[in-house]
Amino acid sequence: MPGQLFVISGPSGAGKSTIVSALRERIDRLGYSISHTSRSPRGVEKNGTDYHFVDKETFEDLIEAGDFVEWAEVYNDYYGTSFAAINEQIASGIDILLDVDAQGARNIKDHFENSVLIYLLPPSLDVLESRLKARGTDTESILRMRMEKAANEIKECTWYDYIIINDDLEKAISEAEAIIVAERCRAARQEQTLKKLFAKYISIG
Ligand code: ADP
Ligand code: 5GP
Repeated sequence: MPGQLFVISGPSGAGKSTIVSALRERIDRLGYSISHTSRSPRGVEKNGTDYHFVDKETFEDLIEAGDFVEWAEVYNDYYGTSFAAINEQIASGIDILLDVDAQGARNIKDHFENSVLIYLLPPSLDVLESRLKARGTDTESILRMRMEKAANEIKECTWYDYIIINDDLEKAISEAEAIIVAERCRAARQEQTLKKLFAKYISIG
């Protein structure tokens, strides 16, 4: 059975990276799709771990070469998911988390219709702004741009499969974990296990 894709979207500062790393520590066989971006690394971000950081020309060459499942221009920079970032992992049955914006989520859903879409919201825009300020990784003008975009983009949450409000961090992580665990228990995803355990008693598939 190929791995399942779990897309996490939400405005910048909603807590996506924080929750993605907590989930990867807690859940077995959960991979991550490392996106390409033309933006510069911020804080402690590492090339090849958080993103593949490339310049705009290189990104455009990769688009030309058809390397991306999806890509988008966000805050004046390119971001994209390469086929390489996901194909090998899902082929070996690894579920993958993807942190992409709403355009990316739609495109992923078009390519992989079983993907599960989760939208992460802050408890309010004021809290979002104070978290971005406390994170301290953006200049004032970038912070303004991120806040303006947040106000416009949160309406996208309505067509996602799940919405999580990230007020208390531990509660938000537990909710995301519960979604992944429940999706793994779906009958359709248990066929191999059933065949292995009970093929003698029931006919499957
Ligand atoms: P994103 O990846 O969505 O841009 P981050 O994971 O970088 O967001 O989170 C933005 C900031 O908010 C970080 O400094 C993070 O430690 C903090 N943060 C995340 N969730 C919470 C929470 N529930 N309560 C308080 N601070 C949080
Ligand atoms: P950040 O600069 O905060 O890391 O990311 C900015 C935005 O780009 C976030 O909304 C994030 O979800 C989105 N993003 C990151 N990687 C990708 C990607 O590969 N594709 C798309 N479409 N969006 C991405």
